[in-house]
Amino acid sequence: MKKIPRIYCASIATETNTFSPLRTDLKNFEETFYVKPNKHPKTPTLCSAIFPILRKRKKKGEIKLVEGTATWAEPGGLINSKTWNYLKNEILSEVKKGGKLDIVILGLHGAMISDNCIDCEGDLIKSIRNILGPKVIIGVTFDPHSHLSKKCEDNANIITVFKEFPHTDFVETAEDCIDLSIKTFDKIIKPQISTFDVKMITILPTTKEPMRSFVDKIKNLEKNNTALSISIIHGFMAGDSPDLGAKIITITDNNKKKGDKISSQLGMELFSLRKYLAPKTFSAHTSLIKAKKLCQKNKKPILIADIWDNPGGGVAGDSTILIKKAMSMNLKKIALGSIWDPVAVNICHAAGEKAIINLRFGGKISSMAGSPVNKQVLVKKIVKNAFQKFGTSLVPLGDSACISFDGIEVVLNSNRSQTFSTDLFTKLGINISNKKILIIKSTNHFFHSFFPHVSNIIYASVNGIYPNNPKKNNYSKLKRRIWPIVKKPHTKLNGKNMKITIKI
Ligand SMILES: [Zn+2]
Repeated sequence: MKKIPRIYCASIATETNTFSPLRTDLKNFEETFYVKPNKHPKTPTLCSAIFPILRKRKKKGEIKLVEGTATWAEPGGLINSKTWNYLKNEILSEVKKGGKLDIVILGLHGAMISDNCIDCEGDLIKSIRNILGPKVIIGVTFDPHSHLSKKCEDNANIITVFKEFPHTDFVETAEDCIDLSIKTFDKIIKPQISTFDVKMITILPTTKEPMRSFVDKIKNLEKNNTALSISIIHGFMAGDSPDLGAKIITITDNNKKKGDKISSQLGMELFSLRKYLAPKTFSAHTSLIKAKKLCQKNKKPILIADIWDNPGGGVAGDSTILIKKAMSMNLKKIALGSIWDPVAVNICHAAGEKAIINLRFGGKISSMAGSPVNKQVLVKKIVKNAFQKFGTSLVPLGDSACISFDGIEVVLNSNRSQTFSTDLFTKLGINISNKKILIIKSTNHFFHSFFPHVSNIIYASVNGIYPNNPKKNNYSKLKRRIWPIVKKPHTKLNGKNMKITIKI
């Protein structure tokens, strides 16, 4: 009779911007998403999609399931040691109490750094390995904006990573991880992990070329069984980590040599595309001038993405630089979503809808994110515990308010969140089709929701608080040579690696 595996699952995730003036503690996890064992909601969140998928397998009688803690904090600054120790020990004690486990499935992010641990995920996976021994299968999902460490590689059997940016495939990534882990348990496959250090850091949206075709190619390689799984770590430039940068992960069925070749060939191909991967960006001023011109010719609004004041990258998300510039240019019919300002939200809620108040909002966390805006505003709408959708996931905005002044509408929220979807505006009573310009704060996760509603997308690179230039970031933990800090990081290897001839 076929043995049914006993599986433990848990998810601890956040993305740490080590340059951020913010700090992360347990309250930030609780505020965004924190559920005790067996309390995970039916809908998946980005890194905890493993839970609903494993429940389906359990329902079919394919597995026995021990559910652990699941938590996610909006990306922010360094986690304090007390919080990291607490969360890690919570998972480890659940593992110890979990009975005889065959498989552990972890939904992690991969860019979590605390003030006492530079590699939280590596530390967690290794600690679980130490408790359970070498025979238990450990499957892990990561976000591509992460740092892949040797500890992770050495202690996990399966690693799968979201291929898409925006991360629309988080459910599929979890399914792949679980599927491969169970196949390993059933002895159908013998996974071998091969990685390659691409030695570069940039941003790699998959909504544009050449990254679109590169990801499609990788998906085809999986489909035609060239490898069991191929993933790309993009890296996260705001995390000062020794493992910073892009990496390729190939999992083969017991063929390390082939996996090494696939990883290095794909890695060098990605490196050759490095100058074309990031979207073209414009300064705050140029972005607004362009939008002003374009909106005269188009019926649909123009979208300006403030790609660096993105709370999803660990900054506060309260920059006023773009909105102040728009005000100084006397632009009308603009909506901005959102500015994180819990104090201003409280004042709006206390004043109530239709109140006209003098409000100071935004620009409070850093002197590099513009100064606060002082305006007499109409409190147009207030919403308690607002949410926005990201795929099937619900993202909390906390109590929120829409304020209106001088032909401009601004969403203020109290839970930090990047702009994922148009419902951030519509739930706050803003009709986006009536607007000429929409300003949002996100690097690329906004794309699929907004694309049908706008005529143009302008990526604004506003120099502010985010460390957006790797050459100037003064990383202290990064010791490897990576592009664009170093022009030719592969010099020594080039001759050898470029000659790889495996047909993929
Ligand atoms: Zn990401």
